[in-house]
Amino acid sequence: MANTLRPAIRRLETREDAPSLWFAFHRNRLLLHRDGQELCVPGHEQWQALGLEYSATHYLGVMGAAHCYAVPLADEPVDCDGVVLQDLRSVLLTMDSSITGVAGLAFQIVHWDRTHQFCGQCGQPMEAMLEERARQCTRCDLMFFPRLCPVIIVRVCRGEELLLARSPHTPPGMYSVLAGFVEPGETLEEAVAREVMEEAGISIGNVRYFGSQPWPFPHSLMIGFTAEHEAGEIRIDGKEIENANWYSVESLPKLPPPISIGRRLIDDFVRHIKDREPSRLG
Ligand SMILES: [Zn+2]
Repeated sequence: MANTLRPAIRRLETREDAPSLWFAFHRNRLLLHRDGQELCVPGHEQWQALGLEYSATHYLGVMGAAHCYAVPLADEPVDCDGVVLQDLRSVLLTMDSSITGVAGLAFQIVHWDRTHQFCGQCGQPMEAMLEERARQCTRCDLMFFPRLCPVIIVRVCRGEELLLARSPHTPPGMYSVLAGFVEPGETLEEAVAREVMEEAGISIGNVRYFGSQPWPFPHSLMIGFTAEHEAGEIRIDGKEIENANWYSVESLPKLPPPISIGRRLIDDFVRHIKDREPSRLG
């Protein structure tokens, strides 16, 4: 399905018999057919047979002809015959990108809704607003919109070498480009320079925007940049980063999966080198 979502808060008009796509989450796991490759689309009776109840329905918009909904499940299915709950990370790795994009959005909305039931200012219950994706306090009117955390991710090169690092949280042996949260009061460019200095001890220049990617764990927006080494040798803090090195494109370590913007930044550099010297990489 090469469709993209037409987002909406309230149900858009389409044919009466238009199909629905249900993105049903129990915590961080999505309800799928047993094969793990298709969304489970239960009718009313099947929801009952599965012993599933949901407390809220969030309309997401239309993809192709199908109305898309996000629902939080209170419990796991009683009878797992024919269905499976699959971790969102593995869903992103294995399913079609049109589905995974909406699945990421659905997870973020469900997570935001679940964690904004009460006002952070006065503690009273919040209720959903009708005209926009927001929740409002029933007493003091304070509004909360879905939360987004901007994270910069940056590819630093030195001539034909790439700076790759690993944190203690990444899978064994895997290296990637540097990334970190943007802090209040910072521009994105300042965040890029600070992160590279903090994590690798290096000054950079020629910072350029590359692209972005929503990353729903649980509400990040990855903003990608490229930059060039200006001064300094690698110096790591040993906490956030446990190892970092300069790598040539012929000797790259284990890399993150192709869906991540970190990998796209690395692949783009490899292509660039290959285009420059076609004989070098075959
Ligand atoms: Zn309040």
